[in-house]
Amino acid sequence: MIPKDCKRLAEVDFPIAEVSRHAAREKSIRHGHPSTLHLWWARRPLASCRAILLGLLWPDPCDPLCPQEFKKAARLHLPKLPHCNPGKTDEELRRALLRFIADFANWDNAGNPAYLEVSRALVKAAYPDEPPLVVDPFAGGGSIPLEALRVGCDAFASDLNPVACLILKVMLEDIPRHGPKLAEELRRVGAEIKKEAEKELADLYPQDPDGATPIAYLWARTVRCEAPNCGAEIPLVRSFWLCKKPNRKQALRPVRVDGSLRSGGSVQFEIFTPKTDREVPAGTVSRAKATCIACGSVLPPERVRAQLAAQRGGADVVFDARGRRTGGARLLAVVTLRPGETGRHYRLPAERDYEAVRTAQKRLAKILEEWERSGKQGPCPVPDEPLPPVGTLGFRVQRYGMLQWGDLFTARQKVALVTLGRLARERPREDGDAVRTAMAWW
Ligand SMILES: [Zn+2]
Repeated sequence: MIPKDCKRLAEVDFPIAEVSRHAAREKSIRHGHPSTLHLWWARRPLASCRAILLGLLWPDPCDPLCPQEFKKAARLHLPKLPHCNPGKTDEELRRALLRFIADFANWDNAGNPAYLEVSRALVKAAYPDEPPLVVDPFAGGGSIPLEALRVGCDAFASDLNPVACLILKVMLEDIPRHGPKLAEELRRVGAEIKKEAEKELADLYPQDPDGATPIAYLWARTVRCEAPNCGAEIPLVRSFWLCKKPNRKQALRPVRVDGSLRSGGSVQFEIFTPKTDREVPAGTVSRAKATCIACGSVLPPERVRAQLAAQRGGADVVFDARGRRTGGARLLAVVTLRPGETGRHYRLPAERDYEAVRTAQKRLAKILEEWERSGKQGPCPVPDEPLPPVGTLGFRVQRYGMLQWGDLFTARQKVALVTLGRLARERPREDGDAVRTAMAWW
């Protein structure tokens, strides 16, 4: 046991510059890093968690109270690694331990068996009776407990947020328990679900007649100009640029029909290749105000909010009984990939793009009807719980009439998410709990 008054390594020194460098580099690692498993907003770099844990767990060899067994073990194990020569004196040993901590902070060494063995051997030497328990009651993305497990501690992690709990369960329990087999199973089950979902959702995401595949729909919420004698529809966009890459520049601009920018109450657009930035019109929204493209009038923030609130946020298209769009969200452009060609293409929306959305709205209505007919068994397929009060964690969308979680999505997104959720839920028990839990992630 380390005596209570014995200083820990981190109390006397810490290789902060090197650990910071490794922590910063970790942010750009996209492949094979736990952070890519699931988004977490305040994820701590593993490099700094690993380094500070060792700095806090290990005693300072220069402290007269430092257990001799720890120093002996350190002198025995450190020479197994490059640049970690423990020398003869306590100062040299301290430097070697700090060197080890700095090098082990490198993500490339995090799975290196030599570093793992030495770190665990020295934690064991400092705590010969039983592994130390690292407790993190608000563990979030789980960096601290993950690194505690890596260096041979026991870990306890919890969080109030259910997303964080799910991340912790999969990363700290299921992955260590099942290893690479879990990844394999996940790929197999994921591929099956993808295939089935593609089949069920095909008519909501139709291919173009020329074989191109739409990969993104660029929507805008809309409000109406309130200037006398205008009433034009204003799509709310920050920028009319579609692509700013040199040689591929594309943008939208309003077209005059019969000399007027307004035709039937709405402004028509075309896609063009701007030669200079000045040819691209300014966006219509700035600081929550909206500027009318047709007459230049400005709609103040409270009117923009009121109009959007009346559309419950305005994410959905409003159709009349004959299926014609009369308001709500407006499709400005569709991004497509063409077979055999590289690069993205941009085209104006066609009738079939809106038709697919109408199909999605009908499908969603049916899903909700079935749930009602079942006597509302289980939770609503589209989350109908209220959003937290305005201001919670930066939530401010409630002022725009988005009051329930479901309001954050369009009808098509809801159908796609409900479908994926159902397919994951309907998987047989034989898939195993770990696969089913991990599937819920995605
Ligand atoms: Zn106007």
